[in-house]
Amino acid sequence: MTNKLIDFRSDTVTQPTFAMRAAMQEAKLGDDVFGDDPSVNALQEQIAAMLGFEAALFVPTGTQSNLCAILSHCQRGDEYIVGQQAHCYRWEGGGAAVFGSVQPQPLAHQADGTLALADIEAAIKPDDAHFARSRLLALENTLGGKLLPFDYVQAATQLAKSKGLNRHLDGARLFNAAVAQAAQTGSDAHTEARRIAECFDSVSVCFSKGLGAPIGSALCGSHDFIARAHRIRKMAGGGMRQSGLLAAAASHALDHHIARLALDHALAQRLAEGLAGIAGLQVEAPQTNIVFVDLSGAAKAQSAALLKHLADQGIQATGLYRLRFVTHLDVDVDGVDRAVAAIRQFFQTRG
Ligand SMILES: *Cc1c(COP(=O)(O)O)cnc(C)c1O
Repeated sequence: MTNKLIDFRSDTVTQPTFAMRAAMQEAKLGDDVFGDDPSVNALQEQIAAMLGFEAALFVPTGTQSNLCAILSHCQRGDEYIVGQQAHCYRWEGGGAAVFGSVQPQPLAHQADGTLALADIEAAIKPDDAHFARSRLLALENTLGGKLLPFDYVQAATQLAKSKGLNRHLDGARLFNAAVAQAAQTGSDAHTEARRIAECFDSVSVCFSKGLGAPIGSALCGSHDFIARAHRIRKMAGGGMRQSGLLAAAASHALDHHIARLALDHALAQRLAEGLAGIAGLQVEAPQTNIVFVDLSGAAKAQSAALLKHLADQGIQATGLYRLRFVTHLDVDVDGVDRAVAAIRQFFQTRG
């Protein structure tokens, strides 16, 4: 057994590969606040073209990308309809409300991660002085590692459009969704990413998750929309200078790290299968690169002890609300098998 640390806490923990560092080293740089950075401009054109949009904006984080999107779609007193577990509602400090006076209208998710069409329709307010103006539907794909069914994405975005709402996708893990969807349709990830993106007026993508770049996200949309987002990015302190160094890493990820996401999905599957049948463990079958594990019965109180047992063996995972294992570029078969063995050992020794 090796002592190599295995970090399942998130797909954000990856180290840039040597090839990615080389691409960064060679990047041509300029001051992006003046629009002068050729590597940033190239990345923005690359991702916009890939996803079928007129324009894109490179931003430091996915949180800032969603903030720029919501504040570009909505004015003060507008609202966005969003899932209870959506990152841009629950996990971003309430930024849209704090910085934009934009009210969220959260809805409960169905078991498959979708928002019921009837719930969306019922949440859209009539034009009446009592109500905030319903302005935007925000979906997330993947959501907690779940791929939203494509016919659902089409139906929900069509419904929103028919009611005069804009549509934003938090596609932090859009390419995980695209790879999983391609496995279903027999198509390729680029085609599926574009088919999903085309249902929306704006799409945010993270380079710093499964794609393996150190920092950065992109927001895609129309020229007008991106011009508004550009102003908000500046206001939020996201105007960066020689950020082509980071954009080069993101471009490298788009060129080399999309198809390989299938490996992460296979490792998540291997982990889930390895854990099947342990009494007290409920393992949610993963659709992409995230495995959720719930402890039940006598095991319920043992999650902190289990996490410590794993940490003692150099295996990190999180248990913020459920035990979560995320596979990524820096996790391999050996790491997955070590985690399975360590978890089995924990339950054997404790009964
Ligand atoms: C990680 C993530 C974000 C943004 O995260 P940052 O840490 O701000 O880059 C947004 N949405 C989803 C679904 C995410 O997983």
